[in-house]
Parts: sequence; C-alpha cells; structure tokens
Amino acid sequence: MLKKPIYFIIIIFTASINAGNDQYVLLVSMDGFRADYLEIIDTPNFDKMAKNGVQSEGLKPIFISKTFPNHYSIATGMYAESHGLIANSFFASDLDKHYSIHDRESVENGDFYGGEPIWVTAERQGVKTASYFWVGTEAAVAGVHLSISKRYDQKVPFDDRIDSVMTWFSLPMSHRPRLIMLYFHEPDWTGHEYGPSSAETVDQIQRMDGIMGTIMEKAEKLSIADKLNVLVVSDHGMTELNQEHIIDLSAYTDFSDVTMAGAGPTVFLSSDSRKRLTTVYNDLQQLPNAQVYWKRDIPKRWHYRDHERIPEVLIVAEEGWTLMPMGHGPEMPKGDHGYDNELTSMQAIFVADGPAFKSGYSRKVFENIHIYPLLAHILGLEPYAEIDGDLDVVKDLLVD
Ligand code: AMP
Ligand code: ZN
Ligand code: ZN
Repeated sequence: MLKKPIYFIIIIFTASINAGNDQYVLLVSMDGFRADYLEIIDTPNFDKMAKNGVQSEGLKPIFISKTFPNHYSIATGMYAESHGLIANSFFASDLDKHYSIHDRESVENGDFYGGEPIWVTAERQGVKTASYFWVGTEAAVAGVHLSISKRYDQKVPFDDRIDSVMTWFSLPMSHRPRLIMLYFHEPDWTGHEYGPSSAETVDQIQRMDGIMGTIMEKAEKLSIADKLNVLVVSDHGMTELNQEHIIDLSAYTDFSDVTMAGAGPTVFLSSDSRKRLTTVYNDLQQLPNAQVYWKRDIPKRWHYRDHERIPEVLIVAEEGWTLMPMGHGPEMPKGDHGYDNELTSMQAIFVADGPAFKSGYSRKVFENIHIYPLLAHILGLEPYAEIDGDLDVVKDLLVD
C-alpha cells in the first residue's frame, strides 16, 4: 500500500520536470522589419540563422498593423479585440482613461492590458522572465511583474541591451530567467523617416543584421548555449508613402461634435450624438482611396470589432495614402504602416534557431498570434486557455 503513492509521486515529479523542461528562449523584436527586406538586402547573419534553423516567408501582423497592438498580440496569442490594446493610443471607455504610448502612466498601468502575456504565464508557473523593453512589460499585468524588466528608454545603445541579456542568462540558476524578451526600435524609425526603399533603410537593415550576428556570437559562448532558442520577429512591415496621396478629411464633412483619433493609415470617429455620426459617416462615403466602416461592418478577417474600446466608426486608407491630420508631427513621414494586414508590405519577419527547431526549414506566412502557444510549448508551460492562436498551425517548425 505504501509503495504505490511513492511510485506515483516519482512519476508526477519526473513529469513536471519534463513539462517544465530546461529550454531557454530569447525572443527578439526588430520593429518594422518588413518580410522582404531579408530577400532584397544582403543579410548574412539572418541567412546563417535561417540555414541552421527555421524561417517563414513572413509573419502576418494583426490589424491594426501598429507597434503596440502587435507586440501585445505576439505576447498574448490574441487579436486586438481579445486583448484590448486596440491602437498605440486610444480611449478606454471601460476604464474612463486614455492610453498613449507617449504617456508613461498609462503604459505602466496594468488595467489596460487584457489576456495573459507569456511572461505572466511563465512567472505564474514558476519560470523566471526578463525583458529589455517589450510592450506591456513595464506594467503589472494581472498583478504579475517580470523578475527583471526595464523602463523604456530608446537611447540605451543596442549593444548594452544585448550585454544585459547575456548577463541575465548567466545568473545563478535560482535567479536566471528562462524567457527573455528584447526589443529594438529599428528599422522602424529609419523606415518612417526615409522610406522603406531608401539607402538609409538599407544601411539600417544591415546594421540590424550585424546586431543579429552579435547576439548569435555572444549566445554561443553562454553555458546554456545548447538549450537556447532564439526567435527573431517583427511587429509589422513598412510601405512607401506617396507625398501627394493625402486625404484631408475635413474637406468632406463637418466634424463638429465628433471626436477624431488616430491619423495616417487609420482614423477613428466617435460621438455622443448618433445623428451627427450618421451624417458624418454618410458624407464620408465619397472619400476617395479610403474605406469607412461602422464598427459592426468592419471586415471579420480583421478580428477588430468585438471590444468596447473600438470606436463606432473606422476609416482605413488604401496603401500609401495618408489620412489627415498627421500622426507623425508636422512633417509627413516617407514610410508608414497600420494598413490592411493582408498587404505584402505589412508582413513582418520570423526566423528562429535552437534545439526546439528543425534545421534549414522554411514555411509559408503565419499569423503572429501563434507565437504565444509556440513559446509556451518550448518552455513547457500550460498556455492560457482564452487565446486565439493555435500551436498546431506552427508545429511543423519544431523537431519531432
Ligand atoms: P509606431 O511606429 O508609431 O507604431 O511606434 C513605434 C515606436 O514605439 C518606436 O519608435 C518606439 O520608440 C516606441 N515604443 C516601443 N516600445 C515602447 C515602450 N515600451 N514605451 C514607449 N514607446 C515605445
Ligand atoms: Zn512597430
Ligand atoms: Zn512605426
């Protein structure tokens, strides 16, 4: 009688070690790294990584194809309508508060962030996590903080970020994170400033390839090197803006009593007066090179309807067109994103290498909501139940 429980305890103990395996993950994001940059531009370090590991022809962003919603989708495995980070800036009627990437207080307020990001899943299951800048990691989401995190400061040199990551992976076992998230704001910044096909952007891509080389070189020297999986993703792509393709919304209707939010590829409208909003909606039907939707008519494929933070009317410009007022200061950018997430120019990158992945394997585009279940699987974590992503979609990347 006594022997049986002990036998079971041993089985359970072994199973939990296997489930909570000894794999490590470094998830790197290079903002605005368009999928085809890797084909067009000479990137030997990315090529090497893809040859040793896996690559997809692209990583499909969620709509809207902006930075904050997408980083948070990668982290949670959810579309914007599920996680609630519906734009870089928005009004959260549920909290009666504004959220903006430029407002520290809101960025660090966990109430804005729905779902369960991978670092919360990990910490809850006893796996330590760290982040050198990732959307959402400055807040306590569901009351959980990462073991190590940094307050966003774009000025921190990229090499310093990499050195910190290597130090964290070298911490004593009791403090060492098994999941680290690392963010770089390039080549997004250069893509906006000079356009995706500019010489400046090409140089920046090559610098980011150098950054990848540094990461791989330093990672190889870690004591955990043979257990480390490095995944490089991006949040969205970048398209060229035609400087003449500007849509001045105020030329088509009178916006009094209507609140406008956003600019560039997307604009949101709301109003306390349904009548006013209906008039504005009707007037805007004449808009050239843009689509205007009531919330209920937003295409299903965008998964961008079912959240109270999504305003009543959405305007989406055609690729390369800019809705006024400008979202990037007085000067119009040369490149932008935020458009339909089906567009080739909006596709991001996915390259990964490590013991969990096949070698020299390439596959078709997949949606970034599948990254969360992939990470949970590699780290041996029980994934959050309410996700939109599905491990089965990306299982082919993994060794059997
Ligand atoms: P956008 O291209 O407008 O979608 O936003 C990209 C910008 O987001 C980058 O230039 C970053 O500087 C900024 N960004 C990224 N992460 C953070 C963060 N955690 N806090 C504030 N700004 C951030
Ligand atoms: Zn971005
Ligand atoms: Zn951007």
